[in-house]
Amino acid sequence: MGLTERTNRNVDLTYWEGEIPVNYVYTYGLGLEAFFRALKEQGKFLASRCEDCGVTYLPARVFCERCLGKLETTFAVPGTGKVYAYTVVHRNVDESPKEEPVVLALVDMDGTDCRFVHYLTGVEPGEVKVGMAVKPVLKAKKDRKGGIEDIVGFAPA
Ligand SMILES: [Zn+2]
Repeated sequence: MGLTERTNRNVDLTYWEGEIPVNYVYTYGLGLEAFFRALKEQGKFLASRCEDCGVTYLPARVFCERCLGKLETTFAVPGTGKVYAYTVVHRNVDESPKEEPVVLALVDMDGTDCRFVHYLTGVEPGEVKVGMAVKPVLKAKKDRKGGIEDIVGFAPA
């Protein structure tokens, strides 16, 4: 369907193939920048805590999301956790079948009030259990770029 064509069915998906060149600079902000720098350089998971609310954030934040109080100190947490929920993905975004199914999990991060969504690795989909203890698997230090993909996934602990 071309740009100038009309449709009488507003439930049909419409799209136009093409490319849009986009240049951008993405910044993490102060809190996430510290988190990803520590992950990249030291393999550590930096958290921050609001003493007023009793909430521990991972990744570390600069401000408490509840009371907007300033959070000035960060500390490392183990990066371990427990599987809170998971799903087994069999298809790619374009609906083609994946060569191997992958497991995506919502991981309750130990020592924090936060959860990470990430891959589970080193475990067969049929072996995953809610509540299963997991530990992070990081890329080799030389391969880390300071992003969430520095974490390969979480493996059974
Ligand atoms: Zn707070």
